[in-house]
Amino acid sequence: MENHKFVLGEKDLPKQWYNIQADLPEPLPPYLHPGTKQPLGPADLAPLFPMELIKQEVSQERYIDIPEEVRDVYKLWRPTIMHRAYRLEKALDTPAKIYYKYEGTSPPGSHKPNTAVAQAYYNKMEGTKRITTETGAGQWGSSLAFACKLFDIECKVYMVKVSYNQKPYRRIMMETWGATCVPSPSPDTKAGRDMLEKDPDCPGSLGLAISEAVEDAVMRDDTHYSLGSVLNHVLMHQTVIGQESMKQMEMAGEYPDIIVGCIGGGSNFAGMYLPFVRDKIVGKRPNLRIINVEPESCPTVTKGLYAYDYGDVAGMAPIAKMFTLGHTFMPPPVHAGGLRYHGMAPIICHLHRLGFVEARAVPQLATFEAGVTFARSEGIISAPETNHAIRVTIDEALKCKEEGKSKVILLAHSGHGHFDMAAYESYLSGKLQDYAYPEDMVKEALKLLPEIPA
Ligand SMILES: *Cc1c(COP(=O)(O)O)cnc(C)c1O
Repeated sequence: MENHKFVLGEKDLPKQWYNIQADLPEPLPPYLHPGTKQPLGPADLAPLFPMELIKQEVSQERYIDIPEEVRDVYKLWRPTIMHRAYRLEKALDTPAKIYYKYEGTSPPGSHKPNTAVAQAYYNKMEGTKRITTETGAGQWGSSLAFACKLFDIECKVYMVKVSYNQKPYRRIMMETWGATCVPSPSPDTKAGRDMLEKDPDCPGSLGLAISEAVEDAVMRDDTHYSLGSVLNHVLMHQTVIGQESMKQMEMAGEYPDIIVGCIGGGSNFAGMYLPFVRDKIVGKRPNLRIINVEPESCPTVTKGLYAYDYGDVAGMAPIAKMFTLGHTFMPPPVHAGGLRYHGMAPIICHLHRLGFVEARAVPQLATFEAGVTFARSEGIISAPETNHAIRVTIDEALKCKEEGKSKVILLAHSGHGHFDMAAYESYLSGKLQDYAYPEDMVKEALKLLPEIPA
């Protein structure tokens, strides 16, 4: 047998982030102001983000230097390891060669600190004292709490209420790293109070928690807001994953035929594939397939509409052109798998429209089944989000077996699931159900899209 692990040294840690905007055959549609519906300027974003991140958001430079201070923090866990999944291949009896790049070795256990650390750093450089954010299951909140502590910034996290109640350990992680975490809807903001008045039992949603965090940041001079996915600069910070993976594939003497990952807002998977998709855009690898995997219960790309929509429930965040289920989307409570945002990273949507990447929706039970197969062969107990990607990796490997083909499949493994044992327990005890988000609910929500002047 050949190598099981492909390990890079610290000298191989990327020195720059890769910015796909330099290589897009058509430019991204601009963000719009939620009030005026006109294209957004840097001044509109200044209450929310440090100027360096606003510049990165629209930059057309192909590479942007990673500050030494950020690289120093990355060295706590980067470069991450790429594995060859020999035991999974054997369990599936497939001729496919499966590789996975594992982001679960960061202190918070996922890819998310790749951008949290960068965002905290630029905020620190520009004098920000306090950062607000939202979190769903808590992975983003804990990553930002960790990053803020390293740069001595106060951190307040609005956590979707249903997760706050079901997942106390992520909250305790945030508190251990010194952050404050409240359930959303909260009485601390107008957006939260309005919702509590309408529905005191509202379970919350990412869109609503974003409204709260944005409002909190806008109301205070010492505070900025931070988003853990979706935005261009966030995806760019994650390209350390793909750049390292390209070197590791080279070490293995391979190039992927298929790259698979899960998409919530799109950051981990875009971080993996943006450096690869460039090979496809420039015609070097025309046959490369890139599969974005999402839940059937939140089928943003496969069932949503490509349209301008608000990034949050209250209509305070910028309007973006993206696939959307409507900003009023409330995820079904039976859904345990994360990936619950109503929209999607504009970069991913744009690449999908241009035909460079594909999308697939998978049902919940099948994702946990795949996660258990992975745990019983490779050992790692994966985040429920990651299980979506593992499902499609297994499906593609089984297709290889049927067709007698030995394709190279690269899985973007976004993190471990050590805080998701309750979801695994529901699955193992047969309590989990499938749920496909109904088409007519999508249609209903899309009636509330903002009207954009021609
Ligand atoms: C947050 C998270 C995701 C989904 O977010 P993206 O921005 O789409 O990457 C996926 N996997 C894990 C482990 C996460 O924590």
